[in-house]
Amino acid sequence: MNWVHASTAALNAASKAHRRWSIPTDAWIDVFGAAAKQGVFLAFRPLGNLGAAVITEPGAGTGIIVNSKHPLSRQRYSVAHELGHLFFKHPSVVDMADIFETGAAAKTDEEKLAESFASWFLMPPGLIDEYAARRGIERIATPEQVYDLSLFLGTSYESTANHLRYSKRASQQRAQAWLKVHPRDIKRERLNGKFELDNPWSDVHLLTEVDDGAPRLVRSGDRIIVSLHEIPSSGYRWRLEPNAAFGVLFDDYDAANGTEGGDVIVTGALRKRKFVISTKEVDERIDVPLVFEQLRVWQPHEPARRFGSRVTIESMRRLGFPPRYLEAAA
Ligand SMILES: [Zn+2]
Repeated sequence: MNWVHASTAALNAASKAHRRWSIPTDAWIDVFGAAAKQGVFLAFRPLGNLGAAVITEPGAGTGIIVNSKHPLSRQRYSVAHELGHLFFKHPSVVDMADIFETGAAAKTDEEKLAESFASWFLMPPGLIDEYAARRGIERIATPEQVYDLSLFLGTSYESTANHLRYSKRASQQRAQAWLKVHPRDIKRERLNGKFELDNPWSDVHLLTEVDDGAPRLVRSGDRIIVSLHEIPSSGYRWRLEPNAAFGVLFDDYDAANGTEGGDVIVTGALRKRKFVISTKEVDERIDVPLVFEQLRVWQPHEPARRFGSRVTIESMRRLGFPPRYLEAAA
């Protein structure tokens, strides 16, 4: 079986799995929740050079063990890969950490199917279309857009670039150029070099008006930049609805975009207000509303506009079974 055949079969299988398992596909795919819905136990353990394994014991159920040392996006990909093995009814398998190397020629048919399944499961065509439609773009073109899309999907930069190529949304040449760019540089640019990340794996999300109502998956320690327009002279100012899950590190007008930075008020001028938000450490996944209201200081109960996103903060994976998944699986 070549990759094209595997990919076609996997696209079909992944959309069947979404339907059969009732997985919503209008926002980032809850792959851990999908496993729980199937009664599959998830365990997170340091696994050295192993990526993940799926173990089915007749009478004892099915478990997926994931390398707890891997970044969240990679753990999600690993679980989707193992769900692919389950969907295709492959026997128990142990996958090495290099399951992402989609170019590898030596893969067995089963591995090609599971890998392609993971891509389509986490990056369904409709969700990529949704991302592009919100931004009014036809094709993903720049590394910045690939990174942005990867955060919208909850996937890694690399697997997103590869998927765009294998799903014929980008040429091989373009995808290769993307893969030469390191996401670290994109993150640094987003933060203007002003803020250090606690962890090099942490991501820097950028939300603008087009993201209103779109759920986001973030991880403890990630930064969320929220950039919203306002006319300072109108008196209406954006304000973050206080929430213990978030801290405001920075709040000012975006100098890079306008004619000047700082707090200079030009009557009637439209400015971009920029908030840099930190996300707190959590022991377990939590869902929190990130809500901004535009209001006048003297009319605090009559917001003119609202911007909101349901943010899911995923903990750095700890050892053992997170109780929430056990509950969901029961
Ligand atoms: Zn595999």
